[in-house]
Amino acid sequence: MTSVVNPATEATIAEVPVQGVEEADAAVARSLDAGPAWRAVVPADRARLLRRFAAQVEEHGEELAQLETANVGKPIGESRDEVGMVAEVIYFYAGAVDKHRGATVPVAGGVDMTFHEPLGVVAAIVPWNFPMAITSWKIGPALATGNTIVVKPAEITPLTALRLAELALDAGIPEGVFQVVVGRGSVAGTRLVEHPDVAKVAFTGSTEVGRKVMARASGTIKRVTLELGGKSASIVFADADLERAAAATPGGVFANAGQDCCARSRVLVERSVFDRYATLLADAVGAWTVGDPTDPATKMGPLVTAGHRRVVASFLAAGIGDPAGGPVPTHTVGAVPAGPGFWFPPTVVAPAGAEWRMAREEIFGPVVAVIPFDDEEDAVRLANDTPYGLSGSIWTRDGARALRMARAVQAGNLSVNSNSSVRVQTSFGGMKQSGFGRELGLEALASYSGIKNVFVSTEG
Ligand code: NAD
Repeated sequence: MTSVVNPATEATIAEVPVQGVEEADAAVARSLDAGPAWRAVVPADRARLLRRFAAQVEEHGEELAQLETANVGKPIGESRDEVGMVAEVIYFYAGAVDKHRGATVPVAGGVDMTFHEPLGVVAAIVPWNFPMAITSWKIGPALATGNTIVVKPAEITPLTALRLAELALDAGIPEGVFQVVVGRGSVAGTRLVEHPDVAKVAFTGSTEVGRKVMARASGTIKRVTLELGGKSASIVFADADLERAAAATPGGVFANAGQDCCARSRVLVERSVFDRYATLLADAVGAWTVGDPTDPATKMGPLVTAGHRRVVASFLAAGIGDPAGGPVPTHTVGAVPAGPGFWFPPTVVAPAGAEWRMAREEIFGPVVAVIPFDDEEDAVRLANDTPYGLSGSIWTRDGARALRMARAVQAGNLSVNSNSSVRVQTSFGGMKQSGFGRELGLEALASYSGIKNVFVSTEG
């Protein structure tokens, strides 16, 4: 057994088993067994079961939100929003069950048609930053398209995935269709990735682990989708509504204490308005309250573990952030509570150098590097000067420039005059080393099904 800890109090809130290869194998065997019957459920009934599951999530919404907040340390308001998203995701894919149609193709000598076939057993590997929401992004399209699924949550945040699996059973989704294996990535995760009966791995996590997953999945030519890390930029032009851009910045980088793959941990600001923007940002950070995540007024909770807090702090160590060896020029540092909890203050570094480690690596904490740029070309160069390509924002009042920038920045999800990256109805995923494959939207259905083509001769 292993202890699950509340990052805001450091108290143990649950003990969960550490499952290994044997349990992963047993789950895959049950998943494989459950497949044919699940696939045979007629579409309207499969949709009905998914809707009942979504209704169970809504009915137990407050319980799930409290559980997520206790396990991850995220503010209760965010957890409630995420529960709302989980239900919406499942409703969305319930609605897609009988709309994911094949085609008839004009060909010579007969009739040609396509079918979207389920892949079989899907293994979903999920990170600790949005355990419940990201689980739903995978179970929704996987189950709608007739697959069965084994979810492996991160070892430190398994509680909501376990509860979701119980709620699915209560909703009438048959045993074995959606299971959870709680165990280490290097053991249970590796086994799922290499298991010959797993048809597809839907992985969300770091680029480093994603690389291993992709290599190991090659042994059995598994389908893989990878949602990996990011180093997204928010680009603020001098012609933007600066007040609005600055007021939105904390939400774009400090939400979930910066532990967000879409965190805009680089803000590129046109040099002529740099100082004014930095002053406005300092005011916005002052209003960004850090504290008890169960208080609905709290904007930011603690980091997830003490170890992760050490990693985040390393980006600010003198001589590490600034290669010249001097102290990092923190422009604004917010306040944090005293006492237990893995607190880290919202921190603005301005001006930061584009070559500093904090401007190049994913920090996954509440630290933002504010970097000046000279013109549009310079902004594009800086934004794209990263191996990642997940997300980003463009702040300008010039519509043509907004479109030019949106086409030039290499990222899978961009927003103009907004930091919103994720919606149930629209596809989400990365370019470059942020991964490939798309989650959410109707696009996700393609990643959970294979096209079969059938030609029927009409010749006598
Ligand atoms: P991680 O890569 O350490 O772990 C992710 C999951 O993979 C966990 O369940 C872990 O147990 C498992 N795992 C670890 N080693 C494994 C292995 N060898 N084989 C199989 N599974 C293994 O990531 P994390 O620290 O949990 O999450 C943070 C990372 O996730 C960040 O890089 C973040 O950007 C990324 N992320 C990406 C998205 C996205 O949609 N692009 C969303 C959220 C988080």
